[in-house]
Amino acid sequence: MHQVQLAGLTVDTRHAIGGERVASAETFESVSPIDGAVLARIARGGAAEVDAAVAAARAAFPAWRDLGPRGRGEILHRLADLVERDLEQLAQLETLDNGALLRSHRRGVMPRVAHNLRFFADWAVDELHHEPFETRGHTNSISWDPSGVAALITPWNAPLMLATWKIGPALAAGDTVVLKPAEWTPLSASYFADLAAEAGVPAGVFNVVQGYGAEAGAALVAHPGIARISFTGSVPTAKSIARAAADNLTPVSFELGGKSPLIVTDDADLDLAVELAVEQYDNAGQVCLSGTRLLVHEAVAEEFAARFAEAAARLRQGDPREESTQIGPQIHRVHLDRVAGFVARATAEGARVVVGGGANDELGGLYFRPTLLADAAPGSEILTAEVFGPVLTMQTFSSDAEALELANGTEFGLAAVVVCGDRARAERLTKNLVAGTIWVNCFFVRDLRAPFGGSKKSGVGREGGTWSFDFYADVKNTVYAPSGWKE
Ligand code: ADP
Repeated sequence: MHQVQLAGLTVDTRHAIGGERVASAETFESVSPIDGAVLARIARGGAAEVDAAVAAARAAFPAWRDLGPRGRGEILHRLADLVERDLEQLAQLETLDNGALLRSHRRGVMPRVAHNLRFFADWAVDELHHEPFETRGHTNSISWDPSGVAALITPWNAPLMLATWKIGPALAAGDTVVLKPAEWTPLSASYFADLAAEAGVPAGVFNVVQGYGAEAGAALVAHPGIARISFTGSVPTAKSIARAAADNLTPVSFELGGKSPLIVTDDADLDLAVELAVEQYDNAGQVCLSGTRLLVHEAVAEEFAARFAEAAARLRQGDPREESTQIGPQIHRVHLDRVAGFVARATAEGARVVVGGGANDELGGLYFRPTLLADAAPGSEILTAEVFGPVLTMQTFSSDAEALELANGTEFGLAAVVVCGDRARAERLTKNLVAGTIWVNCFFVRDLRAPFGGSKKSGVGREGGTWSFDFYADVKNTVYAPSGWKE
């Protein structure tokens, strides 16, 4: 009764706390966005389960800390091996739960899950060193010490990928973990807890508490026993987490939303610009990094819009398990209605529909047509608020200065895409763009060595490479005097 068979896997629907499976009196449904099927009833945790998980993680901390980076790394590599062993089933499970394309789970996302674990395990061993330096004959020796329990709160758009992007460095750094997955996508994290146990992650080192944000999530981030909070999600939730963290002065790392620009200059390769712009519909637009605001030089705007409309019309929308599908469903009815609301308000205020414009009535369910809106009023909601659906807007500019003003004219600063034919011009643009990541003539090229995070309201802090360890670890400087030794 506490287990369901899905995608060839046995998934336990209870929490994973201290090496045991723990039930809650209440449960919530996990529903597939593909067809509305109820996949499982999941334990609905709250303060009591969070207390138990934090206590287990604290108890497991000293031994995990003392294992050292090599010992932890071996276990993380075994865990990555198991992810690779079950890759096909994990890909299917994630698609059932969040509706993202099966082929991208197979080829991109699940391999990246394994890479998240291997990369940070190796980085802690090979790269996490700082050359000692001398101060008047004294030696400064810098170390990254495990800090305690890391509370990880993750969203539904890339559940296991974003969870392991935090779990990898937290465990490699020597912290123990309590993960609270998003309530719309609880399944892969639950299965991952079994893989962790099988890989030899000691009991209590990795815990999963399932439940709603306002219950389990809020209890976790307010807990005085945690040392770090890493959160990926929305700005309003980040504010509430920051308020809870303030009471204990718990350090936070936030990766939040975006309203990123995609700038097309008049000397850009227009085929490339169209190709990159259409990619912004990936994952049905449920990607924080999407360049959703197409800013196109007025000299090429008409041609760009015509070619974009053609390319967008060719996109195949449908069941995310089909190999030929390019756009799947939205995650949930609540979210689909939210996306539709943005588009309805924009068009009521005078925005023009170039492509799409509403739900896909032929398919029914949770499918929203890839949409492009033009002529939205400056400063209007559709140009400033994050939609998180397959909805792009197009604005034109006549000079690079104007492009920059438009690009930087939101409260977000997560990413930017620049499509430009001249390197010096591109460098001038990128220098003045406010964003954590900028892609020039490309999109979504990610390297875990690179810093990742958002400026302005798109985040607090950076993760990736040593930046991840700067957050999860206690960075320490020990100064050795040249004298005072007995030998
Ligand atoms: P989205 O709008 O993408 O669903 P949220 O920020 O609401 O983003 O959710 C992201 C994660 O934050 C989810 O795991 C959710 O359960 C959790 N969450 C929501 N509210 C809170 C809260 N008050 N405290 C802690 N976690 C929360």
